[in-house]
Amino acid sequence: MRIFKYLLCAMLFASFSLYAQNEEKAERQQGHTNQNKFKQLYDEFSTPNMFRTGSGAPGPNYYQQQADYKMDIEIDDDNAKLHGDETITYTNNSPDDLRYLWVQLDQNMRARDSKTPLISGSGIRPATSSSRAVKSYLQESFDGGFHIEAVKDTDGKDLPHTINRTMMRVELPQVLKSGEKFSFQIKWWYNINDHVKDGGRSGYEYFEENDNRIYVIAQFYPRMAVYNDVEGWQNSQFWGRDEFALPFGNFDVNITVPADHILDGTGVLTNREEIFTKDMMKRYKKAQKSYDEPVMIVTQEEAEKTEKSKSKAKKTWKLSAKMVRDFGFATSRKFLWDMMAVKLETKDVMAVSLYSKEGNPLWGQWSTKTVASTFKTYSRMTFDYPYHKSISVHAPMGMEYPMISFNFGRPDKEGNYSDRTKYGMISVIIHEVGHNWFPMIINSDERQWTWMDEGLNTFTQYVAEQDFAEWFPDALSPNDKTYPSRRGPAKNIVRYMGGNQDYIAPIMTKGLNTYQFGNNAYGKPATALNILRETVMGRELFDYAFKEYANRWKFKHPTPEDFFRTMEDASAIDLDWYWRGWFYTTDYTDIGIKEVKKFAVSGTPNDNGKRLADQYNRDPNSLVYFIEEGAEGYDDAMKAGGTIDNVPTVKEYIMDNFTPKEQKQMKKAPKYFYQVTFDKPGGLVMPIIVEYTYADGTKARETYPAQIWRLNDKEVSKAIASDKEIVSITVDPDLETADVDTSNNTWPKEVKESDFDKFKNKVTD
Ligand SMILES: [Zn+2]
Repeated sequence: MRIFKYLLCAMLFASFSLYAQNEEKAERQQGHTNQNKFKQLYDEFSTPNMFRTGSGAPGPNYYQQQADYKMDIEIDDDNAKLHGDETITYTNNSPDDLRYLWVQLDQNMRARDSKTPLISGSGIRPATSSSRAVKSYLQESFDGGFHIEAVKDTDGKDLPHTINRTMMRVELPQVLKSGEKFSFQIKWWYNINDHVKDGGRSGYEYFEENDNRIYVIAQFYPRMAVYNDVEGWQNSQFWGRDEFALPFGNFDVNITVPADHILDGTGVLTNREEIFTKDMMKRYKKAQKSYDEPVMIVTQEEAEKTEKSKSKAKKTWKLSAKMVRDFGFATSRKFLWDMMAVKLETKDVMAVSLYSKEGNPLWGQWSTKTVASTFKTYSRMTFDYPYHKSISVHAPMGMEYPMISFNFGRPDKEGNYSDRTKYGMISVIIHEVGHNWFPMIINSDERQWTWMDEGLNTFTQYVAEQDFAEWFPDALSPNDKTYPSRRGPAKNIVRYMGGNQDYIAPIMTKGLNTYQFGNNAYGKPATALNILRETVMGRELFDYAFKEYANRWKFKHPTPEDFFRTMEDASAIDLDWYWRGWFYTTDYTDIGIKEVKKFAVSGTPNDNGKRLADQYNRDPNSLVYFIEEGAEGYDDAMKAGGTIDNVPTVKEYIMDNFTPKEQKQMKKAPKYFYQVTFDKPGGLVMPIIVEYTYADGTKARETYPAQIWRLNDKEVSKAIASDKEIVSITVDPDLETADVDTSNNTWPKEVKESDFDKFKNKVTD
């Protein structure tokens, strides 16, 4: 239509052009905006370009910046302080000239002048714990920000810099042109936080017995911000909840700690021979060939002995990592250490755990095996794990970094633990190790799009939990061998999606700005992908496309559109309606059966049939009549027992138009006719999965694609012809669409507590 008008403008007289403009104006005034739920997402998606293509793949001009780090770090265990000195080499691969660089100072979220406490809108709590009261009103706030001592160029000359809260702008002595590198040095220190008392994604846990700490250290160094084609410099400050956006680079990090500490972190330990004892070296070599059971590198007996004294000497551990977006490490004299080898399709990798005696017996039994299991599932779903190891560290939280993650799950003092603790630990290890793929390697911007790492990762975690249950049945309860996955199954998201809309935001909302963060950024996208895989696309098409996305964006920076587009591009399924409903709105699924009408077929019209024949101007004896149950002639037609091929005019038509051979090939003639009307009180368009149960007890399933709603978003009717009588109909019989109200899902209506109510009454947080 548009092109046609332009052609007119170009070819014909001005009056025509004027006419066209007026017509367009009239169209606008009529107010027809396209609200169709199957409308393409051109308004929501960014326009494809030379950096990112319409297929969802990186374009011919795709680029990404690189930040390489050389660091000397020292932990002052007596004062719980970290001192650091780093040289960053920044490579400008963009086509743009840069006048300044932005560096992230995440620890400033804990600075005394941090604005993070000022954005929480909490009022007075009428009743509160004394610890909270002290923390809120009496305690001096913790001085946890970075103390920047120097920012210099490689000649030792100070570089002008400006700190804006959690970001620092460093002025370049001259413009950094496309393709050029710039090196500079930062020196800093900060007080390490007690993350048990003060929270946080890193810090230390203090153990009074023997006065020891376990340090899990991250966000400990000034880190380069991302500069890219989508945002320019990443300019969203760190408020504490929304995570990180980081460029890839190579790291050489020397970490000095007390000599009796055991340390591991991102990268290859390059001075292993120097650091390890002979025994440790022997055990390490054994672990590299142990594919079934972890081998202890440091035993519990050894760790218990070490934690009783304190060395005054120091040791430096040297770690080197290529193509990582971040760096983390853990260190303590309390650590036990075990490792095992894992065979992937193309290589061997090491599953590693660091834990204290407080984690046993649970950690010794299951941590490293869980890492190994995770490697296998994620490698199958995406690509073989490209790094050489992944470490699971026992800590009070769950948090991820390249090759290392911090995971919770602690037995009581006697070493007893509940199923809940055990499954919690296994799930968090799968989840955090899984983050190696999303976002550490498939490097999305966590600050903007929490769901891109948490949602994709929680979905893959769900797949990995099912694998784990199959591969390690001994880890499960003797009486229930199904893995109790919290997020992924459709029915688990029902309570959230059917809840109060005032407290729900679309998935495509920045993580910082959402209520119910866990459901919004983890649970709902994971479920959306699971439903997409199991119900909408099928495993084969989904898995191919998901893998394609992972491989296209491995070691690159994808955006949401890159994911959405690739899933369609690689499967030939237009999913714009699905992304629109699940990711851009807060609509929920509710599909029901409004009514079912039965019909008998007959060649004899009742009064209504006669009227219709008259209306159509046809001979009443030439039509086929479908007479609704209860109407005149219905009982007679059913009693006559005629199937549709017994209606005289149908018989005649077949005789006249088909050869005897063709007549023999016709379908069995249906006798029962139904009109089923489905209604959709919920906003989401979803396929209608229907189970028909027949009088003889047999059942049949039919799935009507979501496109059935394309012309009427409220209700649709289907004509069902059957040679068997239908006695009942159920929509979504396996609860796979997250239908929030199943009380309208059956015909005839069952009078019982709805599944939704049952679910509502059962679930707790
Ligand atoms: Zn996560």
